[in-house]
Amino acid sequence: MRDGSADPAALVSMRGLVRSVRTPEFAGLTFHEVVAKTALNQVPTASSMPFHWTVNPYRGCSHQCVYCFARQTHTYLDFDAGDDFDRQVVVKVNVADVLRAELGRRSWRHELVALGTNTDPYQRAEGRYELMPGIIRALGESGTPLSILTKGTLLRRDLPQLRQVADHLPVDLAMSIAIFDDALQKAVEPGTPTTAARLATVRAAAELGFPVTVFLMPIMPWLTDQPEHLERAVAAIADAGASRVVFGALHLRPGAREWFLDWISREHPELERGYRTFYGNSSYAPAGYRKQLAARMRPILRRHGLDARDDEDQPENRRAAREAATLPTFAPTPQPTLF
Ligand code: SF4
Repeated sequence: MRDGSADPAALVSMRGLVRSVRTPEFAGLTFHEVVAKTALNQVPTASSMPFHWTVNPYRGCSHQCVYCFARQTHTYLDFDAGDDFDRQVVVKVNVADVLRAELGRRSWRHELVALGTNTDPYQRAEGRYELMPGIIRALGESGTPLSILTKGTLLRRDLPQLRQVADHLPVDLAMSIAIFDDALQKAVEPGTPTTAARLATVRAAAELGFPVTVFLMPIMPWLTDQPEHLERAVAAIADAGASRVVFGALHLRPGAREWFLDWISREHPELERGYRTFYGNSSYAPAGYRKQLAARMRPILRRHGLDARDDEDQPENRRAAREAATLPTFAPTPQPTLF
């Protein structure tokens, strides 16, 4: 460790590990610097996501969202899906170089590459490692369209570079902002920038001519689904100059489910029963609830002149994608990697 302290997590065997680092500027976090062999990941055919390729410069996420769906992926590294996911962050220090080599292959077909689909590329570590400018440069110079989804206001640093890329390639920018109550936001997403700071980042991107999408999700039953909260949220998003909203109810997959339900039982014991009824045996809120939520959202979005889209990650969409993926095909089967 750089500060000389022992960290049992650093003893975990990790492919490509160069060193593990702690610094006073990032108190409480350990960065595990690894040399990655690959940068591009192919999304499984059965996924309902509207992209086929992703890049994730980091594993683990200091934004620490209690509901984070990526928590379980940390267990592949022998870390736990709870506190370790929040504090033990793997950094692919050579990701931009590896990506550039992959994008230079003659077989690369310049399909959209999505960033921010598994862990946040503008989490706090990015302030130290500055991996995103190299990634954006590699994508832009190879003629590859990209999309970025983040909660990180550090995106502002790269807006001029992204603007240049967007002059000749599709660049989709999206900010995730789900909670318009400051105390609740700090409790649920303790490592994230404030809602106001994220809205200011949306405004900065919109002023540069980007049509910015806001992911108003997860909408949490009984916590953020009240009409007043949704109205306040959509009004603020419209005021920040966003073009479109993607909304959806909370999902709780294994890993995230245990962590979130523990949090609910501690912080909102009065809601525990309801959450266990909704999510005890399912990753998704009941279909009836999701339908009601959509019916509540649509008129609010219309009133504020925002385009809307439901979250694509719905059980019905997953089922359809799985069925489509099982149709006979002569294409080679991609490797289902998350990172
Ligand atoms: S910002 Fe995204 S990846 Fe990071 S903890 Fe929150 S939900 Fe997970």
